[in-house]
Amino acid sequence: HDQLCYNLTLEKKLISLNIDENKLFGICLGVPGLIDIENNRVTTSTVIPIDDNNDFYYYIKNRYNDIPILLGNESWFSAYAEKEFGSGTNIQNLIFIDINIGVGAGIILNGEIFTGSRGLAGEIGHISIDMNGPRCKCGNRGCIETMVSIPAMFNTLTNNIVSGRKTLVKEIIAKNHDRITVEIIREASLKKDELVLEILDDSARKLAFGMTNIINLLNPEVIVIGGEITKLGNVFLERIKKYIEDIQLKPNKDKIQIRYSSLKGNTVTLGGAKYVLDNIFEPGILLDGIRF
Ligand SMILES: [Zn+2]
Repeated sequence: HDQLCYNLTLEKKLISLNIDENKLFGICLGVPGLIDIENNRVTTSTVIPIDDNNDFYYYIKNRYNDIPILLGNESWFSAYAEKEFGSGTNIQNLIFIDINIGVGAGIILNGEIFTGSRGLAGEIGHISIDMNGPRCKCGNRGCIETMVSIPAMFNTLTNNIVSGRKTLVKEIIAKNHDRITVEIIREASLKKDELVLEILDDSARKLAFGMTNIINLLNPEVIVIGGEITKLGNVFLERIKKYIEDIQLKPNKDKIQIRYSSLKGNTVTLGGAKYVLDNIFEPGILLDGIRF
């Protein structure tokens, strides 16, 4: 039943895009979740409901058995798209940080997607920036995901409103019968709302600490921030840059490009397609079992 569903979805997609199945070079599946790269399964996903014994990779493999099928974390392919299309020429080391409900990342090292030994490289959301911070669902304390994700920001704002702090956010929500959104936070920040600027500043500083851990470990040329959080605009980005500059090793100062993603459309499909094309003609890389 499932098997049919996955393949039907793909077949319909190909028909709607007017792509002849015989001309497919490969299929790349970018999933928001942890990937078991040895067994080609999704281990967990906080975004999509998925069975423990998910076999969709194999269903698709059976159906399209003449071409390479590639399964990876969606952030890997977004990172690859940013390297190929978003960053100018000759960028070899790039980190893509995706900040939404959770915090994920894709790492490009020496021009290639870096997955680590078990596909868990890039779990930046669970790098701790405070050993005494709030407990995270992973068991650690003070993880970036619990401190600077979008829900974390909403929580801080809500707690402040409940405890009586004045903010435009409260008025905007009351007027529009709305919930807190990233857009509302941005609107309030542009009107110089004191509480909102305070929270953005604090979040930017925390994120800068986390990013500096990554910079000191991997020495990237570029860090690209993507996801919902970019809707906060330059008010947030400029603060991140400032804090990062403050705590950078001297040779790194002014050298690291930190920016929001500027690619339009779906960066996962863009990067995934480019990755397959770049690797398919190199014998052995995608054909005998998938390796990165
Ligand atoms: Zn964690």
